[in-house]
Amino acid sequence: MGLFDKFQGMAAARSELEALRIDPFGVEIERIISPTEGIIHGRHTILAGTNNYLGLTFNPECIAAAHRALDAEGTGTTGSRMANGSYSGHRRLEEELAAFYGMRDAIVFSTGYQANLGMLAALTGPNDVVLLDADCHASIYDGCRLSGAEVIRFRHNNAADLAKRMRRLGARAADTLILVEGIYSMLGDCAPLKEIVDVKREFGGYLLVDEAHSLGVLGERGRGLVEELGVLADADFIVGTFSKSLGGAGGFCVSDLPALDLVRYSSRPYIFTASPSPATIASTRQALHILADGRELRARLRENFERLHAGLTAMGYTLGASPSPVIAVVFGETITTLKFWHDLLQRGVYVNLMLPPATPNGVSLIRCSVSAAHTPEQIDAVCAAFADLRAVT
Ligand code: PMP
Repeated sequence: MGLFDKFQGMAAARSELEALRIDPFGVEIERIISPTEGIIHGRHTILAGTNNYLGLTFNPECIAAAHRALDAEGTGTTGSRMANGSYSGHRRLEEELAAFYGMRDAIVFSTGYQANLGMLAALTGPNDVVLLDADCHASIYDGCRLSGAEVIRFRHNNAADLAKRMRRLGARAADTLILVEGIYSMLGDCAPLKEIVDVKREFGGYLLVDEAHSLGVLGERGRGLVEELGVLADADFIVGTFSKSLGGAGGFCVSDLPALDLVRYSSRPYIFTASPSPATIASTRQALHILADGRELRARLRENFERLHAGLTAMGYTLGASPSPVIAVVFGETITTLKFWHDLLQRGVYVNLMLPPATPNGVSLIRCSVSAAHTPEQIDAVCAAFADLRAVT
């Protein structure tokens, strides 16, 4: 088999899309106007698929902080955290993240993807067992692969299935790592964290919660599902990203366990890549500050996602979960979903197209993500576009 033969299936699929003149994975935002608006294909478009949950990408204080860092510290660190890439801003952000969660320490990684890779590859190895929710994000699966650990999947959001598998492990259960998310990225549903914590209490083990989509969104201070459900102290590791509610790029892990610091010395995705730029770190620090005080932003976000959820439900769409900032409309056939996505874009609404194998249970999804920065009129415009297309589904 030739080196490029593996691409043939993909090339054929792309040709089919080209014939339909639909390019869902190469969308270029020709001009970004605000957290919720851009120009795509020359058309003014409402952005409803950006994970910009608090709308902080254009926050003046975050922009000013980034400008100051750019002027004072330059465009990049040109090195890894382990070598020349730890500036005082990186370390201060780690301290601020640890304080935000009331935990001992934090590690800043270059992306959220690398935070999962870096944590899993350092914490677990070929002699360890990880138990992961079947719907976990690709970065968690890839981290497991990099670690070489034995991977046992449990049924999505099914604490009883987790308990069954923990029981089977016997004495080994006490050293397993349980991997779940707060809000799941595709369907927008929440983990049954209290039940999962109960299983951990019964069998032992360690719990890592990826709060990529719940940081800034849930909990009084925005600390995610762990805060919302009152189980923050039961999470051994919390992973998050700067690329969603914090409006930047980068990732982190916080923990109260002293061993966290040792991860730095054995985590290849931490050691062998350049650290986030000073401007990114500065805007993220400012955004974290705003997020912690962001009750109003969270309230506005909730109003917006409840409005969209109610609108789509009233039209009879099948939605993936109860209201959350991630609202997934479930479709059957891939081709119908593709055309629907394209028709939304033609009506000036950008959302995410999610197709198997990236989706749970092989479903095709139109995934909307709602922002606190959306106006009620924009949410209504999104609803109107969905209403327009209702006949075709
Ligand atoms: N974890 C989850 C659950 C995610 O959904 C994502 C990104 N979609 C990541 C991690 C990776 O984050 P980043 O984009 O910052 O690399």
